[in-house]
Amino acid sequence: MSSISASSLASSLLRCELLDLHAYHVPDSAGYIKLDAMENPYQVPSALRAEIAGMLAGAEINRYPDPGAAALKSKISALLGLPEGMGVLLGNGSDELIQLLALALNKPGATLLSVEPSFVMYKMIATFTGMRYVGVPLAVSDFSLDLAATLAAIRREQPALVFLAYPNNPTGNLFPADALRQIIEATPGLVVVDEAYYAFASDSFISQLSRYPNLLVMRTFSKLGMAGLRLGFLAGSNAWLEQLEKLRLPYNVGVLPQLVAGKLLDHHEVLLQQAGQIKRDRALLYQQLQAIPAVQVFPSEANFLLFRVAHATQVFNGLKQRGVLIKNLNGGHPMLHDCLRVTVGTPQENERFVTALKESLSHVQ
Ligand SMILES: *Cc1c(COP(=O)(O)O)cnc(C)c1O
Repeated sequence: MSSISASSLASSLLRCELLDLHAYHVPDSAGYIKLDAMENPYQVPSALRAEIAGMLAGAEINRYPDPGAAALKSKISALLGLPEGMGVLLGNGSDELIQLLALALNKPGATLLSVEPSFVMYKMIATFTGMRYVGVPLAVSDFSLDLAATLAAIRREQPALVFLAYPNNPTGNLFPADALRQIIEATPGLVVVDEAYYAFASDSFISQLSRYPNLLVMRTFSKLGMAGLRLGFLAGSNAWLEQLEKLRLPYNVGVLPQLVAGKLLDHHEVLLQQAGQIKRDRALLYQQLQAIPAVQVFPSEANFLLFRVAHATQVFNGLKQRGVLIKNLNGGHPMLHDCLRVTVGTPQENERFVTALKESLSHVQ
């Protein structure tokens, strides 16, 4: 045994799906203006931070958390105005919930369907849970939903699970609500509308939950200012949630996230005000990018903007040299050729980004 190297042993024992997979890459961001991960750039007011600090001092971290997170769940249900018979299931980020759904619906031969380009975790999680994956391309010119192609794919593939990000990541656009309704009606399986960017968008499917027995809405608090807490949820009928709960690992949401998120949700309006500021700054940044002839910027209802430039990787590196980190999507999905994605930051950060972008563009041949 001792003569075999760990790496050859690992590659002979591990599943090929895992060996073939590229790890989700998170670059080192220390020292940069960080506009790569759709984080809220604002802290909560210091009085509220002090209140949270006091609460944490008394937290019983020697005990396991409330396994059902009852207090936090009822707070979220109340905020959403969920009717009788509906509730929420909490995840350690919504990434964990995507995985839980794939594990739950992956009967032999079952298919997970989404559109492309969209959130990369749908495909990654399908791959490592061994679920068949189908991606329906969005329109090449503007990343709009190709409804006819999507409905045809649903008829052909009969997916057990459909994910639609509303608004979509990394494109930022909000698909038409009526198209989503047609998709939900045509799908034999479960449709999950992923509202990670709900705080920045003009519409939601929460109010549609009681209309469709095959609909769940997924949200995360990550983009609203709690990325560090790792908290997401699924909202919908208890008939679904009671079954899915069986797959949730006990204590997946710790004592500290339960306490802090509960407190922050008591001040939901503070977070929504920050989101309002980000939306106004998004409009300004959109105009500034639109005014640069070398840039094609796409409309967004999220807290980021997708844009295309010639020689995107050079521009990305030029931004990095100037201390600004955004997301390089070039080399990922073929439809995202020469695309970059910038998170809306504070007004000062956005200014620094626009200046650095103009400088980088002028140095690219
Ligand atoms: C960021 C994001 C998520 C995941 O968020 P978590 O931090 O894991 O809660 C899910 N869906 C979309 C579309 C996202 O952009």
